[in-house]
Amino acid sequence: MKQGKLLYSGKAKSVYLTDDRNTLIVDFRDDITAFDGGKKDNLKDKGSYNAAVSAFFFAHLEEKGIKTHFLRMLDGHRIAVRKLAMIPLEVIVRNVAAGSIVRNYPFKEGTKLDPPVIVIDYKDDSRHDPMLNDDLIVALKLATPAELAAIRKAALAVNRHLAALLAKEGILLVDFKLEFGREGKTIRLGDEISMDSMRLWDKKTKESLDKDVYRFSKGDVMATYHQVAQRITRASGKPGRVSATGKRRAAAKKTKNLRPPGRRNQRQKSDNR
Ligand code: C5P
Repeated sequence: MKQGKLLYSGKAKSVYLTDDRNTLIVDFRDDITAFDGGKKDNLKDKGSYNAAVSAFFFAHLEEKGIKTHFLRMLDGHRIAVRKLAMIPLEVIVRNVAAGSIVRNYPFKEGTKLDPPVIVIDYKDDSRHDPMLNDDLIVALKLATPAELAAIRKAALAVNRHLAALLAKEGILLVDFKLEFGREGKTIRLGDEISMDSMRLWDKKTKESLDKDVYRFSKGDVMATYHQVAQRITRASGKPGRVSATGKRRAAAKKTKNLRPPGRRNQRQKSDNR
């Protein structure tokens, strides 16, 4: 498959057309940003860690029956995905109070949220991603009530599967953000699931294992990403152990390049809008 024109460039990923009109390439760049782009850096190998973890999670979720855009890994920092018509919603699932929910509401950081809290924001940087409710989502024609129900169901299923996987490695899934898109009438999980889009705490020490390390200068963010990528890909013993069913074999094949990156040549930086 040949990489074509740049379709979109976000803060940390670039999306390219390919010679197959149903397939796109997502390139995880080494850029890292926080606070609406107010803080930014370029950290060698960061893109590879996020690509590996994202691909690993997507393959795991596909195995569990959740429809995603993930097709396969192409190399250390690029994945092939199904082309979706993205829905401009940021679906945030929270198991523990942290981040904006603590700033905006009277929750004490670390409070367990059971059942999990889903918050849906309107993905619009110029408006600073305002929070929506179901009526607004339907009135803005962003999703139908049936689609919204499917999105909520999928988000809670993702939460269950990822929380269980991470727990095996002593990692607490505090919160995370998902984005969904349409492939015809089918809703699929798109975008990424990585340390950039999740809050992960070490269960014992409560140490941050995610982008909060970068946001709040808590330490060496690359050492953290490296450690998390290793712990996560080790959590299920995959791909070595996945051979029970055809479906599992296919998932294992898709993830065979998923080891966290070794050193790779610094690649050309894509433009970063
Ligand atoms: O900042 P806040 O606490 O609302 O973020 C909740 C979760 O969603 C965090 O894991 C954060 O990394 C993620 N998030 C994201 N992209 C955004 C907003 C939040 O990945 N634009």
